[in-house]
Amino acid sequence: MRARKTLTLALALGVLAVPALGQPAVAAEDPTTALGTVFMPNPVVQLQDQSLTDQKDRDYPALAGAYRDVTLTNLDGTGYLHGDYAFVSGTKNDAYSATAEFLWHRSHAWFEQVVAYKAVTDAQLYIQSLGFTGETGVNDEPQDVRVAQYGGDNSFYDPAKDAMTFGKGGVDDGEDMEVIWHEYGHAIQDDIQPGFGVTHDANSIGEGFGDYWAFTMSEPVSGGYDPACIADWDSISYTSTEPHCLRRVDLDLTVDDQTGRIHHDGQIWSRALYDIHGALGRETADRIILQSHFVMGVDPSFAEAALATVATADELAGHGAAVKVQRAFEDRGIL
Ligand SMILES: [Zn+2]
Repeated sequence: MRARKTLTLALALGVLAVPALGQPAVAAEDPTTALGTVFMPNPVVQLQDQSLTDQKDRDYPALAGAYRDVTLTNLDGTGYLHGDYAFVSGTKNDAYSATAEFLWHRSHAWFEQVVAYKAVTDAQLYIQSLGFTGETGVNDEPQDVRVAQYGGDNSFYDPAKDAMTFGKGGVDDGEDMEVIWHEYGHAIQDDIQPGFGVTHDANSIGEGFGDYWAFTMSEPVSGGYDPACIADWDSISYTSTEPHCLRRVDLDLTVDDQTGRIHHDGQIWSRALYDIHGALGRETADRIILQSHFVMGVDPSFAEAALATVATADELAGHGAAVKVQRAFEDRGIL
């Protein structure tokens, strides 16, 4: 309430100013907001530099331009990164600030928790902006996020615990929003269809959707720098070719290229979603793609999930859109 009143007054006086470039945003008195320093989406994309390396979590000068001060929203006011859509915890203790300032760099143990809080909250706010609220909400809850609680260079979503966990091998996975958004993709599917993915096709759809979700969240903050490349920063630790990508969503793969490995085969699915995004635009595509999960069941084949998506497009955006969605799946050999 108080924040809204201030905003109205500022507008009336005509003094509401957007912070100048390079200046931090101003922290509101509202206890649900705070300032945080993050990478967004990650240093490789932000600096457009493929030569960056991990350097064991060191805060070295070449990364300086990648830190961004942002407003964290939807906090519960306790001083922790606990809020409406993300409940972030760390290995030994949870990030805490008594002054609503979470302004650490990557060498600080709490930095990744801030990145994760921002990435998850932004994803949920985007979902709500598409109309998925209340009865039709999607994962509209404080998502449990566990940062650097796993020694390996891997991250995962555990449906039994409804928790996302980020590993600290190589580049800490929590430093790359695209990794966080991929795992949030699994949480989205599991919220709509609990237990999503049993057999190969559905598990591949799970991985492909996660990669696509990373792409669609990253695109607006990527400055146009190769948004189809997923986890550009995390993957510098384990890829030698440039650009460094965990996976891509724009590969020309069809069902004939399947290997039986779900992360690879998921790239057939993510390419179809990427083409739908290109044909219909981000918001229309994402509304259709999210809504289609309500009707594709818990363990769809590629074809079943594709047909569900075509039908959803017809319903939400009309016949012309459905034809484009159909073509995207035909191009992959799925339909
Ligand atoms: Zn995954």
